[in-house]
Amino acid sequence: MLKVVSTRLAVVRNFFGGLFVIAPICLTLACKAMPLDNGEGALERAKNGLLEELQSEGVTDPRVIEALRKVPREEFVRPHDRYAAYDNRALPIGKGQTISQPLIVGLMTQLLGLTGNERVLEVGTGSGYQAAVLSLLCQEVYSIEIDPDLAAEAAQRLARLGYQNVHVKAGDGFFGWPEAAPFDAVIITAVAPRVPEPLLAQLKPSGVIVMPLEEGWGETLVRVRKLEDGGTKTERFGAVAFVPMRGAVRSQEEPGN
Ligand code: SAH
Repeated sequence: MLKVVSTRLAVVRNFFGGLFVIAPICLTLACKAMPLDNGEGALERAKNGLLEELQSEGVTDPRVIEALRKVPREEFVRPHDRYAAYDNRALPIGKGQTISQPLIVGLMTQLLGLTGNERVLEVGTGSGYQAAVLSLLCQEVYSIEIDPDLAAEAAQRLARLGYQNVHVKAGDGFFGWPEAAPFDAVIITAVAPRVPEPLLAQLKPSGVIVMPLEEGWGETLVRVRKLEDGGTKTERFGAVAFVPMRGAVRSQEEPGN
């Protein structure tokens, strides 16, 4: 009798022991068979969905869409926002600043009309994401960030990710980057009360500045083209919401006042 009981116990023990061996093997095989069920697959699906959304909202230049596909936005947001990286919204990057909404990055980049040979100046490096997108569409990107900590972080991140044609410096973008001028295009990713005069001076004739401009109670996305005769032509592309441009643009009086 005693023998029968202990044999039964042995059978039960062997059964559970076997489970411990077989279950992990089954789990491993299941994970291998479903590669889209891990985090990277979820990001890839979210990115595809976002790119479709951006195309339907007006980002139609295929070169811009390709650049947005190639730059890993998840590397430019804070680690706990990784899985929100392909939501169509701005996200905090620290120091009270944000990485811009993907739709706005797409539209502003498209408005620059880059063909591949340009030198582009960016004011407001932030996370470095917009600079990375630009770097795939032009020759050289010069990006200025007023917050030295954000500038250092972005420079390090861009170098780690291999964006060799992006140059970052800490400083007030109001004054531009005279040693690297003239530029074919300028993008300002913080809202300003007017076009900074030094940036217009560092722009080649027929070059453009794309930026949010404070107008009335709100902000408007504008493209300012520098004409051959030194004048400018301004086009408007609707209401936007940006963090403010700081520094000299706030303290220096408008010329002529
Ligand atoms: N382009 C960024 C987002 C920009 S947020 C990205 O892709 O992540 C706007 C940034 O402009 C902030 O980081 C802010 O610190 C910076 N900024 C504000 N005023 C500035 C100025 N005068 N010169 C340079 N950078 C400025």
